[in-house]
Amino acid sequence: MKQFDYIIVGQGLAGTVLAFRLRLKGKRVFVVDKHRESTSSKIAPGAYNPMVLKRFTPCWNVEQQLEPLYDFITNFEEAFDESVHTPLKLWRKFHSVQEQNLWLEKSEKVRLAPFMNPSFIANPYKGVRAEFGFGEVINSGRVELSRMISLFKEQLESEACFLDEDFDYNTLEIRSSSVCYKSVSADKIVFCEGHRLTKNPFFNYLPLMRTKGELITVRLKGLQVKELIKSNISILPLGDDVYKVGATFNWDDKDEVCTEQAQQELLDKLKELVDVSPELVRHEAGLRPTVKDRRALLGVHPKYDNVIVFNGLGTRGLLISPYLSLQLIDFMEQGIALDPEVDIKRYENQMPC
Ligand SMILES: Cc1cc2nc3c(=O)[nH]c(=O)nc-3n(C[C@H](O)[C@H](O)[C@H](O)COP(=O)(O)OP(=O)(O)OC[C@H]3O[C@@H](n4cnc5c(N)ncnc54)[C@H](O)[C@@H]3O)c2cc1C
Repeated sequence: MKQFDYIIVGQGLAGTVLAFRLRLKGKRVFVVDKHRESTSSKIAPGAYNPMVLKRFTPCWNVEQQLEPLYDFITNFEEAFDESVHTPLKLWRKFHSVQEQNLWLEKSEKVRLAPFMNPSFIANPYKGVRAEFGFGEVINSGRVELSRMISLFKEQLESEACFLDEDFDYNTLEIRSSSVCYKSVSADKIVFCEGHRLTKNPFFNYLPLMRTKGELITVRLKGLQVKELIKSNISILPLGDDVYKVGATFNWDDKDEVCTEQAQQELLDKLKELVDVSPELVRHEAGLRPTVKDRRALLGVHPKYDNVIVFNGLGTRGLLISPYLSLQLIDFMEQGIALDPEVDIKRYENQMPC
């Protein structure tokens, strides 16, 4: 038996952030992850920003989230000697004078002032339709999640701490102070399975909704946009005239299949925003691990205190995962109580007897 402190199941964004942070603390981590091309984390553009841009409000607990995010990025880039982060200006398109006025009003609020440039930005781009201009969000950017995940996976593989397979729940042995999986023994196991949590016999009572999202990658020749522009869709510049455009929200489909309908919806919305014919490069679909009450799912199984879950990252996984991983580590290592808003105890009454 090889001894570890933690087994982590799933190496998307949640598993990567948690495992990386645990290793920084000197913990021995073994990861089980079935390779898939089309996971939420691998297709996500990896954009982050501190505001909800529909209503011009701050994101939940955002003041506590930016520092852990930047710390995580710095530590990760130092460890791998590679840059995965690009600070990126975010411009929210205004649709009316009323929206401009609301922006101005909100930018004076104490919680929002650090994130909003109160001046309006006139549209500098011929190919973009934005007669009322833009509002600029401060503290936004992008992390190449797919690259981050593959760098970390290579490292784990090189240290023989990684298994590429679907976790076999029947093989897990839970003892009073350890867990065993095949030839690996650890103090605790943490499930970071994204939307596949619905198949996990320990945690499938949790109300994970799963929201399908599709996005397209297009070439927009000569557009020359350098900012992340947000209207009723986002366009994110990748360089060389290529942009990620998305995303759709579908609460009914529960698969990762690309649909013509979503592609058309994105192309129609893109046409409203830009005056350049797109050349389609790629079309991707994934399932966001969303939760009924829009809060993440962290905590320990009601019956087994060494079986833990880290899930429900929703639509803003990048911003919240470094912050939540710190909470989870404090909980697992020192018994410090989790924020009741994310603690799965709130759903204990839904567990079957
Ligand atoms: C179209 C779209 C765009 C998005 N854009 C953004 C964005 O710009 N910014 C942002 O912050 N968020 C974005 N999100 C949300 C973000 O992608 C998610 O919050 C986050 O990636 C979820 O990560 P996760 O690790 O929980 O799940 P996942 O990404 O689903 O990863 C889970 C991993 O676990 C593996 N796995 C699962 N079960 C098992 C098992 N039993 N055995 C072995 N392996 C297993 C899977 O194969 C996978 O590798 C977007 C989502 C979508 C769909």
